[in-house]
Amino acid sequence: MILTVPVKGYFEENCYFYIDDNTRHGFIIDPGAQADILIKIISENSFVIDKIILTHCHFDHFGAANELRAKLNCPILAHEKADLFLLDPIMNLSRQCVGDLVIKDTVKFTDGDIISLNSSTNCSLQVIFAPGHTPDSVLLYNEKDNIAFVGDTIFKGSIGNYTFPGGNKKILIQSIMEKVFALPNNTIIYSGHSEPTTVGAEKRYYRLR
Ligand SMILES: [Zn+2]
Repeated sequence: MILTVPVKGYFEENCYFYIDDNTRHGFIIDPGAQADILIKIISENSFVIDKIILTHCHFDHFGAANELRAKLNCPILAHEKADLFLLDPIMNLSRQCVGDLVIKDTVKFTDGDIISLNSSTNCSLQVIFAPGHTPDSVLLYNEKDNIAFVGDTIFKGSIGNYTFPGGNKKILIQSIMEKVFALPNNTIIYSGHSEPTTVGAEKRYYRLR
């Protein structure tokens, strides 16, 4: 099951639960704020969170991650280049918005890795490196469930910002064309700041522009 929880911090952001229906173990993706609300959902639904995963490391996607890690006793996973952001409040934009936030001691993944639950092959997520919004941005893809968590690479009807530190328009568009649009058209896209969409729908939109 996928549960979308819009969390409100300095920005509103979509946090996602991706949970195995059989075992109720799962992942929490991009817990950007409001740890208390997320913990309540976990306890009310008897979820067991095996891993916290970050699509990229702007503060509005990880703002609740430290508190969740401490309460849930599970690791935080991020791309191998993520420390550039996680350890630097200017790069992760927290200093400019809410005051310095950093996250230490994360577990790193790289392009092509499969992130799995501790005791089930359900809900496994393939890491697809998709830089441009940031140099540590990834898509998290499950072929069987036909879904991709895309962070801020692409939204319903628009594309990610490429003007923040480390952003690059040319590389972002290349990631969208070669990584997002390489997925099957019926793949449901779950982004950080919009309603869900599909790869096919965004291809049509993109051509119209
Ligand atoms: Zn971002």
